[in-house]
Amino acid sequence: MDKKNILEQINDMEKQLAALCEQVGGLKGELSTLLEENQRLTMENDYLHERIQEERAVNGKETGKKKGERELPIPGEGYDNLARLYEEGFHICSMQFGSTRRGEDCLFCLEFLNKAK
Ligand SMILES: [Zn+2]
Repeated sequence: MDKKNILEQINDMEKQLAALCEQVGGLKGELSTLLEENQRLTMENDYLHERIQEERAVNGKETGKKKGERELPIPGEGYDNLARLYEEGFHICSMQFGSTRRGEDCLFCLEFLNKAK
């Protein structure tokens, strides 16, 4: 192996190292962008969670339930409860929710039940 060849190899390695350094720099830039975005999304997520808790608290008060007593309805369960309530003779429509149907069918209730199904 002559001296010229060794020098060429070293020059090649130098170029490769420079390219690697550039790649690492690029990745560091991407990483910091991702970390910033992650931070932003975490904050947004926290904020939205708080909003949901507030909504639940407000809704709980409006329906006379204790805060935290009833979390978001389990899909299907809410419908069954409403259907049962209607069967028992109460309005479940927003117009007259909770009042008695006096044995009459209510179109608003039925429409609501169909939508919720
Ligand atoms: Zn009704």
